[in-house]
Amino acid sequence: MRWSFRIAVVDGIAIKIHITFFLVLILGAIEWGSLTGTALGALFGVVLMILLFVCVTLHELGHSIVAKHFGIPVREIILFPLGGVSNITKNPDKPLHELFISIAGPLVNVLIAAVLVLVVGRIDRVNLLDGHGLLQQLQSPDLQGMLVWLLAANVTLVAFNMIPAYPLDGGRVFHAILAMFLGYRRATRIASVVGELLAIVLGIYGLIAGNFILVLIAVFVFFGASQETATADSKTVLTTLRVGDAYNKNALTLAVGDRASKVVDYLLTSYQPDFAVLQGSNLLGIVRRSDVLHALASSQIDLFVTEIMERQITKVDASKTLQEVSDYLHAQNAQVAAVYNGPMFLGLTSLEDINEAFAILAFQQRQQQARQQRQSHA
Ligand SMILES: [Zn+2]
Repeated sequence: MRWSFRIAVVDGIAIKIHITFFLVLILGAIEWGSLTGTALGALFGVVLMILLFVCVTLHELGHSIVAKHFGIPVREIILFPLGGVSNITKNPDKPLHELFISIAGPLVNVLIAAVLVLVVGRIDRVNLLDGHGLLQQLQSPDLQGMLVWLLAANVTLVAFNMIPAYPLDGGRVFHAILAMFLGYRRATRIASVVGELLAIVLGIYGLIAGNFILVLIAVFVFFGASQETATADSKTVLTTLRVGDAYNKNALTLAVGDRASKVVDYLLTSYQPDFAVLQGSNLLGIVRRSDVLHALASSQIDLFVTEIMERQITKVDASKTLQEVSDYLHAQNAQVAAVYNGPMFLGLTSLEDINEAFAILAFQQRQQQARQQRQSHA
């Protein structure tokens, strides 16, 4: 992200501040400076905003650490004036994982609020059941005022984030629960529509109440919801496209009597890197580009392909999705899989092929998003 810089690294996750974040500090200084009429009050406002964003960062770390626990890499957390964003590199596959990741952030604020309730409750002058007294506390620039204000802020963070509007946390929880019963695609459609409707309601309310931060958030939620639909569409291809429909049906193959020099010819005249060695229609082994190069380097004679082929074959059923095959290959620490339809060998597919499919889909998705952004700017 341009215009953001790193302030810390926690558990391998870079925590960055976007330059616009300083607006929040200035706003805090102005608000509390004018409320108290002193420079100390302004400083108090700045400290308050920093503490608020410590809570926001802990919230994002809650999401990120749970995501990492489920094996999803997290690149960075960026703090914007409207809140934090965790750059979680992919959406979780399992609804239950999405549920845990989404709920972890607000749960952190619940914990902070609980600790603050205990601390504030111990201070004699504060009665948590006395709303009017609390309101006065909120406006006093001292330690008690700070604690009560932070308590209110954390409760607000939980309440706001749990609004079931995709892509807010509450919307993701809602989506995860829907996905358990309706499948990923339908869940995304429903959660997005609900998110967009709630964003419109929020926006209208913000306009009527004259709260422009609410209007901004409503716009963010609205476009976030439609972007999630685009992501879900390309994700659906990976999770629904069967490898039986996606392997190379016109691949060059080798027979038992073929020699390494034939593979060299193939390598020079085609872009195919992996070759199935067949006896009739039975797969005996796989010759990869690296096997041939190795054979050329280590042997003077033109070896038979059966002498250089890899006999350890990772088999996958044609009904498996690209996502499943990719996960399986990673788990097996293998590069190539033989695709079978029952006992019948169909062809080969490699991690490279699947990654290419990923890249093409990601490109399509970026284009789609760019189109949406152009539309929203028009
Ligand atoms: Zn969150």
